[in-house]
Amino acid sequence: MKCRKCGATAAINMRQHKLALCEEHFLEWMPEQTQRFVEKYRMFAPEDKILVAVSGGKDSLSLWDILHRLGYHADGLYIGLGIDGRRSSSEEGIGYSDESRRLSEKFAAERGLTLHVVEVEATYGATIPELAVISHRGRDKPCAVCGLNKRYIMNRAAHDGGYNVLATGHNLDDEVAVLMQNTLNWASGYLVRQAPVLEANRPGLARKVKPLCRFYEREMAAYAIVRGIEYIYDECPHAVGSTTLYYKEILNQLEEKRPGAKLQFYLSFLQAKEQGLFALQADDAELHACEKCGQPTSAPGECSFCRLWDKVRAVKGARLPLPALPTIEISD
Ligand SMILES: [Zn+2]
Ligand SMILES: [Zn+2]
Repeated sequence: MKCRKCGATAAINMRQHKLALCEEHFLEWMPEQTQRFVEKYRMFAPEDKILVAVSGGKDSLSLWDILHRLGYHADGLYIGLGIDGRRSSSEEGIGYSDESRRLSEKFAAERGLTLHVVEVEATYGATIPELAVISHRGRDKPCAVCGLNKRYIMNRAAHDGGYNVLATGHNLDDEVAVLMQNTLNWASGYLVRQAPVLEANRPGLARKVKPLCRFYEREMAAYAIVRGIEYIYDECPHAVGSTTLYYKEILNQLEEKRPGAKLQFYLSFLQAKEQGLFALQADDAELHACEKCGQPTSAPGECSFCRLWDKVRAVKGARLPLPALPTIEISD
């Protein structure tokens, strides 16, 4: 297989694009494509202040790398979830969260980029796994409370830090797995909101963008490896056995027989939305400021984040340091 641009040995063959490229041209092609998607979906402009949510994984670190290469003003946000993942502390290596923080900090330091760190336990008083047990929400799978906390902290950090755009590293495989799940359930409320860009239509919320939403997972892995980015290979230990991973496997089988099937599923969905499918259901619930923290919420009184932490404090009681809720300490 030869590179289409220079004839050298190809490093990657992307069957869905009928395109094979050598390392050098693949490293050029990725930012070019990203820039195309940024413009096509009107994600952001050179003057925007972007906050990239980084997890230490290949997608978010590559996203940060690409935005930096394209010359955008992009800082990073790492959220420490306190997830260990080892069966006992005597097991080798360091825990999942510690390792992902180490790799995120290393990446930022090597490039002279600004990384904000918010540790959930130090800021609010419990780790995500503890929070899941205490709240009785997802005792086995803390993913629901984890998602709630990450969304809240990302919004808050973007707002407090003066960022108007929040970028996440969701790739095509992530988007298509969610799309399939939502389609099988005809979850129209979620389908309406699934898009490369979610506008900030309320004060206090940042515009959310997914610049990698058209790249396959294997393209992202290839980019990180060829570019020499050191990232955490493991999935979050709590994601093992999740529905999302199950749908990803099914979709990979589909892709195997029909190269391009995943991309087509996603692009046809975006096109159908553009043509007005789901448009009638696009009603955003009335938002108001949370009585406790001031963040926009559709829940009456306090937002679900504040209610969750109230419950945790009631259980953990005096053992919990009471954080000053309305401000997140952003440390560089
Ligand atoms: Zn080439
Ligand atoms: Zn609140």
